[in-house]
Amino acid sequence: MERAWIVSLGTELALGQTVDTNAAWLAQRLTELGIRPARHVTVPDELSAIRDALAQAAGESDVVVVSGGLGPTDDDLTRHALAALAGVELELHAPSLERLRGFFAARNRQMQPTNRIQAMIPKGGAALENTCGTAPGISIKLGGTPCFALPGVPFEMKTMFERAVRPVIRAATTGRVLLTRQIQCFGLGESDLAAKIRDMMTRGRNPEVGTTAKLGAIGIRINAAAGAPAAANELLDETERELRRRLGELVFGTGDDTLAAVVGAQLRQRRATLAVAESCTGGLLAKLITDVPGSSAYFVGGAVTYANEAKVRLLAVDNAPLAAEGAVSEPVARSMARGVRAALGATYAVAVTGIAGPGGGTEAKPVGLVYVGLDTRAETRVERFLFGHDAPRAFIRGRAAMTALNLLRLELLGTSGAAS
Ligand code: AMP
Ligand code: MG
Repeated sequence: MERAWIVSLGTELALGQTVDTNAAWLAQRLTELGIRPARHVTVPDELSAIRDALAQAAGESDVVVVSGGLGPTDDDLTRHALAALAGVELELHAPSLERLRGFFAARNRQMQPTNRIQAMIPKGGAALENTCGTAPGISIKLGGTPCFALPGVPFEMKTMFERAVRPVIRAATTGRVLLTRQIQCFGLGESDLAAKIRDMMTRGRNPEVGTTAKLGAIGIRINAAAGAPAAANELLDETERELRRRLGELVFGTGDDTLAAVVGAQLRQRRATLAVAESCTGGLLAKLITDVPGSSAYFVGGAVTYANEAKVRLLAVDNAPLAAEGAVSEPVARSMARGVRAALGATYAVAVTGIAGPGGGTEAKPVGLVYVGLDTRAETRVERFLFGHDAPRAFIRGRAAMTALNLLRLELLGTSGAAS
């Protein structure tokens, strides 16, 4: 058993009114079990479309996991599609009917005649007990391929998968594992970073290497398949070593590490403190920093100084550079960083000032222009970034806050340099 298709049934999913969280959850569980989710398919509640999708899924995979369409109403068609494909009738499964009656009785509710259909299972299939809802699941072979149909309600689906599907798949895949590891990077665009590791990203390689980007942070995921966990871990170690060798200080962490958490750990280790001064990020930088539990050990606080007057009054920024060069400028970023560090007595301070857009850009100062200032006991530095005149406001603000954290990270590593 190596390849799975995941089929999500529901018109609300196909129309995008409900986000398909079941497929993502199932894909993660299957991957853990060493099964490769080869395809996610979403199908509206139409019998012929469901039949076609299930037939194709069974034909092209080793196991099919379906969710949704097991309810009592006319648009719940999973059992009918399975029966049609298997060429069998639906038959009443007496223990399931008993469970359904018990479910309603325990809640002091009258069971509707329509609920009876939920106890109907295609002949030759097996009912999967639903311990937290009404609809039993169905296990059946379609042309020899095992197919598990689970309820759509996410917690019912999860419970049933753990109880009835995981053990079956586990038994069929003994000894084979697919382990995954993630390395987090910041400081290069995704394509520039990929250029450094292109040969490691070729399809079909084991371990497989792929990237995803989020507000400038690039996650590199490594998937290793092997006969046993130890062998898979060895493959992961080897690939991680090579990635770290090539990417150097672009790598800031692993797994779910965030830039803010990594910077926090560096500060804590040095018993250093941090203050921030924010203009265009409006508090986002402080938010990212304080998202980390225990950040009070190193984060003193900061100022959101949006108007010039706030920069002058709270951070002692001089009127002269504000008037001469404007709020989004190198000298103002410098004074903001110095001002907040002095005001709060911190070891380090970072400051952000920029144009988040969509309005307010000029030829000389386009939307996306951001200055990040860093003040330490030894020096004050400012770096200038262009995050794109047509980039959305939220993206520019996010990138600005992340870039400020990265500048500090590199400073704490004992190096400096560009950090966009
Ligand atoms: P069903 O079993 O198709 O009647 O679905 C029952 C409920 O679960 C509905 O409210 C659906 O919107 C929800 N649901 C069904 N499938 C999914 C899915 N793939 N992801 C998230 N929610 C779902
Ligand atoms: Mg449905």
